[in-house]
Amino acid sequence: MAKVDRRKFLKTAGAGGVGAAATAVAAPAIAQSAPEIKWRLTSSFPKNLDTIYGAAETFAKAVAEATDNKFQITVFAGGEIVPPLQAADAVTNGSVEMCHTASYYFWGKDPTFAFGTAVPFGLNARMQNAWHYEGGAIDLMNKFYAKHKIYALPAGNTGAQMGGWYRKEINTPNDLKGLKMRIGGFAGTVLQKLGVVPSQIPGGDIYPSLEKGTIDAAEWVGPYDDEKLGFQKVAKYYYYPGWWEGGAMLHVFTNTDKWNSLPKSYQAIVRSAAALANTTMMAKYDVQNPAALKRLYAAGAQLRPFSEPVLDACFGAANEVYAEYSAKNADFKTTYEHMKAFRSDAYLWQQFSENGYDTYMMIQQRKKTL
Ligand code: CA
Repeated sequence: MAKVDRRKFLKTAGAGGVGAAATAVAAPAIAQSAPEIKWRLTSSFPKNLDTIYGAAETFAKAVAEATDNKFQITVFAGGEIVPPLQAADAVTNGSVEMCHTASYYFWGKDPTFAFGTAVPFGLNARMQNAWHYEGGAIDLMNKFYAKHKIYALPAGNTGAQMGGWYRKEINTPNDLKGLKMRIGGFAGTVLQKLGVVPSQIPGGDIYPSLEKGTIDAAEWVGPYDDEKLGFQKVAKYYYYPGWWEGGAMLHVFTNTDKWNSLPKSYQAIVRSAAALANTTMMAKYDVQNPAALKRLYAAGAQLRPFSEPVLDACFGAANEVYAEYSAKNADFKTTYEHMKAFRSDAYLWQQFSENGYDTYMMIQQRKKTL
């Protein structure tokens, strides 16, 4: 560009032509960094768990909208293209690019997977978010997930779950002995120490098993999801809290090669979309659960808190399990100690913040002044 022309150009730009000039220069770069991509995401959940399954849809929709539909992620329900509990394997071996799942489903491969979702007496939803987003857990967990060719981002939370449905009351730790209970994964191992006989039964088979008495108790999620399965008709004692799922987090898993192949801008969009799904799913539960709890109560559910002796026995058993796994698995030990240090400070602060405020407000709720 000749000197005179250049001066003229700058003058034009200064007079208001910046936008036009920037567009002209930037357009080719944008075209290069916004390729058309079509990916598949397999969910570990059925469509009737609309809050959890819906988080994957929220995620995929946000990615499509932010990229003008250039990056399209098709969501498949559990079992449509991959069995629900093989979602992580499908990502690891690259047969799908992504899945939406609960990482603790894969604790049998390595118990360290449990920390991504929830562990007995672990973190509540807000703490699980803080630990992941700002407490270092996203990086820490991804060092572990990378061994399975997985890059994981938080994408949903159920909040604290309920402790399940029981055909008889559980008053003391002794009442747990011989109890046949539908409860999955890590929590099952803890309860086994107290004499519970845990079993993993798919959602659709729980009701008939409770009705026939093949099992004595079953945990699922919380009021909104439990209501659909009708447990109050066959096991009316509805216990709380679900101490094994104080804030169960879901994740979007991406195959690491596929993740690295994405333009940086798409990676940023995926991060934001996953964070949106994370917030939206929790909000949906917080809107749906109160109404469902009222309906369940009206339909005969008997709400019962676990007694302190029962919780103390479970807490002790959980700590034994943590010690046992820590002694034989270095990743588990590192992650457990990281979470434990965070948990201690988080509960220090929440005594003064939310818990202090909420306690007063819950008294008002019981007085019906709200
Ligand atoms: Ca559960």
